[in-house]
This record gives sequence, C-alpha cells and structure tokens, in this order.
Amino acid sequence: MNGAIWRVNGRFTLAWVCHMMPDMMLTFAQPVTSLKGIGPRLAEKFEKLGILTLQDLLFHLPSRYQDRTRMTPLVDLNDGQFASIQADVVDTKISYGAKRTFSIVAQEGAGTITLKFFHFSAAQHAKVVPGVRIQCFGEVHRSAYGLSMIHPEYHCLAEGETVCMGASLTPIYPTTGGLNQGVLRKHIQQALQHMTACPLEHDLIPAGLLNRHASDDLTMLETLQYLHAPPPEASLRQLEAGQHPAQQRLAIEELASHHLSLCLLRQEQRSVCSPAFCGEKILSQQLLKQLPFNLTRAQENVIQTIEQDMANNVPMLRLVQGDVGSGKTIVAAFAAMRAIESNYQVAMMVPTELLAEQHYRNFLAWFEPFGIELSWLTGKQPSQHKAMVRDALQQGQLSLVIGTHALFQASVEFANLGLIIIDEQHRFGVNQRLALKQKGSAQQPHQLIMTATPIPRTLAMTAYANLDVSVIDELPPGRQPIKTAVIANTRRGEVIARMEDVCQQGRQVYWVCSLVEESEVLQCEAAEDTAALLQQALPNVRVALLHGRMSAEMKEATMADFAEGTTQLLVATTVIEVGVDVPNASLMIIENAERFGLAQLHQLRGRVGRGQQESHCLLLYQSPLSHIGKQRLAVMRSTQDGFEIANQDLLIRGPGEMLGTRQTGLMCLKIADLMRDQALIPIAQALANDMLKHYPEQVPALILRWVGSKKHFATV
Ligand code: ADP
Ligand code: MG
Repeated sequence: MNGAIWRVNGRFTLAWVCHMMPDMMLTFAQPVTSLKGIGPRLAEKFEKLGILTLQDLLFHLPSRYQDRTRMTPLVDLNDGQFASIQADVVDTKISYGAKRTFSIVAQEGAGTITLKFFHFSAAQHAKVVPGVRIQCFGEVHRSAYGLSMIHPEYHCLAEGETVCMGASLTPIYPTTGGLNQGVLRKHIQQALQHMTACPLEHDLIPAGLLNRHASDDLTMLETLQYLHAPPPEASLRQLEAGQHPAQQRLAIEELASHHLSLCLLRQEQRSVCSPAFCGEKILSQQLLKQLPFNLTRAQENVIQTIEQDMANNVPMLRLVQGDVGSGKTIVAAFAAMRAIESNYQVAMMVPTELLAEQHYRNFLAWFEPFGIELSWLTGKQPSQHKAMVRDALQQGQLSLVIGTHALFQASVEFANLGLIIIDEQHRFGVNQRLALKQKGSAQQPHQLIMTATPIPRTLAMTAYANLDVSVIDELPPGRQPIKTAVIANTRRGEVIARMEDVCQQGRQVYWVCSLVEESEVLQCEAAEDTAALLQQALPNVRVALLHGRMSAEMKEATMADFAEGTTQLLVATTVIEVGVDVPNASLMIIENAERFGLAQLHQLRGRVGRGQQESHCLLLYQSPLSHIGKQRLAVMRSTQDGFEIANQDLLIRGPGEMLGTRQTGLMCLKIADLMRDQALIPIAQALANDMLKHYPEQVPALILRWVGSKKHFATV
C-alpha cells in the first residue's frame, strides 16, 4: 500500500512522504531503547510490563484517568473524589503522635481543608508557610473532622502565577515497581511524537473499510493520541468502562487480527491432502445397526456431516461440542470405523488413563466382532506392552489405538494413519501440537475433536475459527433429570445414611473428594482417609478407592469392579471427571463443592443420571459459604443445562479460565476483552473477512502487530 494515496478524514495524503525522511521516523517495531532516555536499566523495567517495542509502549493504554483540568471549590468536594483544588495556607504544624505528621490547613472561600504528609523534608516544611497559595491534586476524605487529603501532589504558586491546569485528562497506567507514572507518560508522549512524523504509516486497515465497521473514523495515530491524552470534555465513564469509540476501534482491530490469524491457520491446515474415505459403508453401517438404542437426531446429523467431511481429500478439522452424556463416543466410533473400513489406522487421544481404558473396553466390544485389531497405550503401562503396541502400529497390524499423551511421543509411528480423534479436548488445557509421524505417507490424517464444554457461541466462533464446529444439542431420550441438593458439611451423617439406603437398593454411589489445589499427593491422601472413614461408617457396603497415583492396572481393576457392580461405593478424586460411564450409579456426593469450578461440577455430576433410574447429586459445602459461593452452588441446583452453566461460569470466572489459559492466543489480548466486547466480535470477523478479500497484502502486518510472530496455538 506504500505510495498509494489514502483518504483520511476527508483529506488526501501521500503516504510515501514518510519514506523521504527515514531518519526521522522510528517504526512501531523498534525497541523502546531507540527512544531518548531509555537505557538498558529502564528497558528492563519496561520489559516487566511486557513492553519491548514502541508498539508495545503505545498500546500500553491507561487503566483509568484523572480529571485535573478543572478546579473544584472546597465547598463542593465529596468524600472519595479525586480533585484539583487551590487554597491559601493558614496554618502548618508538625505533630508527633503515632506517626510524625506534617499538617497544612488551607482555606478557600467558606471551605477549609487539612493536607497531611507523613514523609516530608525540612525544605518542604520551610516553603509551605501561612500566606502561600497552594494547588493540590489528591483523594478527598470527608469526615466529622472536616475535609482532608493525605499526601496530595501539590505545588506552591508563586506570586502572580496563574493556575497551571492540564490540557487533557491525566492517564494512569498499569505499572510495576520502579516505573512511575511520570516516566511512562513521558516516554509514551515521546513515542507518539515520533509517530506524527509519519501519521498514516500505522493504519494497516484502510480508513474506508474501517469506517464501514467501526463507528469511529480516527486514524491509528489519532486514536492513540486520544487515548493517551483525552481532551477535558471526554467521557470518563465511557473511557473507564472501555467503551469509548477510540478503544473499541482498537479492540475491533485486535479481534479482527486474531481472527485473521486463525483464518490463515485454517487455510494452511487445509492446504494439504488427506485420504478420501468414500468407499461403501459396510462395517460402519453395521456398527450403527447393532446398537441397543436409536441414535438421536443430533447424533445422526453429526455422523452425516463427519461422513461427508471425510469423503473429501481436504483434511477434516471438526470440533464436536456435546454436553456430558450426549453420546459423543458412538460418533467417534463411527468415524473410526469409516477410516478402518477404508484400510486406514485411527488414533484416539484422551486426557486420562481411566478414560483410555474405558474407551478401550467400549471399542473392544464394538469392534472385535468385526475382527478389527485394537489396543491402548498409556505412559504408565509396562514398557513391554508399549513396545508391542508401537511395533504393531508401525507394521500396520493395529487398526485402532486409544491412548493418553503417550500416543504422541516421537517413538510412536503409524503405517497409514487416516484419522485422529481427540476426546474431551477441554481437558488438555494447553493445546497439543500433535507430532504424529507417518511412515512414507504425505497425507494428513483427518481430525475429529470432541469437547463437553459448551461455550457460548461468540466465544466458540472466536476461539475455534480454524475449525468447523458441530453441536450435539440433544440428550438421549429417557434420561431422568439429576436432582441436585446443596447441603452443609455438618449434615454428613444424614448423607452417609442415605448412601447406605441407595446401596441396599442395588444402586451405586460416587463420593468425590474435595479438591486440594496444592498437590496431587495431598489429594490422594485425602481420598485414602475418606475411603477409610466411610468404610468404617458403612461396614456392610463394599467401598473402593480410586485416585491418580494408583498404577494403571490398579485403576483398571478398580474401575472394572465398579462397572460390574462388585463394589458399591467408589471414593475418588477428580480422576473420574471425564468420560466414566457406569449407568447403575445413581448418587454422587461431592465434598467441598464450593472449591470446584462450575464446569467441573457439571462434568462430575454428569457421571450419574446415565441410567433409567432417578439420580441425585449432593453438593456438600463447608460453612460459611461466601455470597458468590452460594450463587454458584445455586446455579448447579437450578439447572442441568451445560450451556446455561457455561454462561454463568463465564460471568463468574471470565473467558480465560473457561477456554484454558494458553489454549488460544486470544488469552493474550492487549486491549479487547472477550467478555466486555462480545458485541464487537461479529464486527471484527466481518472486518477480517473484508481484509482477506480486498487487502490480503495488509494481513501479515496486522497479525504481526496484534498476535505477534508466534503463531496461534492451533487447537490441533
Ligand atoms: P459423552 O457425550 O459424555 O461422551 P457417552 O458417549 O459416554 O457420552 O454416552 C453416554 C451414555 O449414553 C453411554 O452409556 C451411551 O451408551 C449412551 N448413549 C449414547 N447415545 C445414546 C442414544 N442415542 N440413546 C441411548 N443411549 C445412548
Ligand atoms: Mg465422552
């Protein structure tokens, strides 16, 4: 775009002018040390704020502003207000109470104010004497003793000196120790000065296009100038709420850039070839036909979509969102069978050993009758088993492998991998870059990703813009609602009696031990203690214990016993959070439920209510419960709708937690806030699409500006 004539605010300007004076111009990408007065020591402090370049510095926006442009008469001051005042000093004194204090009494009109300083110099004391006129800025305290300010900024006005007022609102920046507001302001203003040498160089989105999407037609320079020094008449309320058009203009550009980065990732991911599975559906049809239930409409739709995706030689990249218990496993099994009947291998990754084992059992029952070879692989298995599985995968003797992270180690190679399935993707937290090695094949496997975290639509569109998304928005019929009660820990005795009843009726119970954030060891110890206590209290009930530090075989055996009904009460840590499916379990007790996130409680609760009988979930809490704690548990009691719970969770915890912190680059947003700016997301996406269509040459610079050189952590 350089050299083009741009139309900005009705004026025509030659953008190439700036290229004629390269010496004067500092570019956005230059380090802060290119500014006058920033040496290595100061640069280190800037770095603590994540500020390395001029661009970082300029996008370091104030978190709030102070209005020092107006003088407030003393009689109009309110408690808690920050204000500029002028008054005449009438008295000063130093007192030696608990703290040595220098007090100044000043008057203006009918008002009197006391200014107090706990740190002061003799020179200060000598200068501020009765008769001097003083100008101050600070927070006002109003009490029965009158008006006061503690440590205000002040300035003694010289004889005849006119009022010195700011010409703009004063920005207050987020900062860390050693970097004061004055230093930040000075250097930000310096950087802005450099920008003015080339006012249009910084507009990566042509003004005409931006105006179509944003309500503000300021250039980037004008926007930054405005936000770093808003005029006195600017709306403080709007600015501090992040809703000023200038802020929104930046947020839109930022969101659009992230969207663009995901769009490019999407293009890149789809630019390679995958095997097309378009042969006859013999085994996959049979698999579905022999199920003991009818698929729900939602399951059928998703299955059909996946079938179409995989019939193409463009890689499938599909995320299937479905609440707990919506029946995602059979959808995965269908996709797997489709690949296997086309003579390709399938790898399914799950977040826990327990789930790997459970899926392995399910798939064994479904696939073995067809003579299909499958196995499972987790880190804790004996190395002999692992070596065997690896060999068989490499030779192409195994059609399907289910496993944890261990699957994606460099030593695992496939003969002809055609499909990767990732179950319970939300549990992986940080995105896995799947380094799957293929022997002698240039083809990319298709990818199917399942998640039980139903996130609000705008968020999903933002976070997963590189994926196609399907939703299973229906539960299998006949599910009984889970009745949830919130009960104080002091009523534990009643709860234990109730567990005994349930067990006597032939049903089974989960007891989820409280979350101990600090360490897995403590968590497992707590579970051991609880199991012992419960066994003592219920001598006739067969109690089992399950936690993360048990060996894979122990876990497998314990889970198998519980699935078969041999044990009745399973005391467990959150290892059972995902996937575990024992329909006869109809009661779940969650200890210290207030410590869990809502989404996690929802996942845990989803372990019951899988059979035909009525199920219950008892949320035990430790008193006293905070107000928010009460609200959160009330949400769990009032709804079983994963989307509703996700919305509430979003309100309470914010999107960062919800999407998993480093899951997408979105969590490093500089200016936009996914919660506050939800309404801007569709606008930003429309803008991004226009940029791709009309100004693709500008896209890399935009991505570099907002996303950085690091690529988005792709969902896969
Ligand atoms: P999730 O979506 O949480 O992974 P699962 O796939 O584990 O759910 O399914 C939960 C339970 O529902 C399983 O016992 C499964 O066999 C059963 N199920 C799945 N689909 C249906 C259906 N259409 N009708 C009845 N039961 C179903
Ligand atoms: Mg599942």
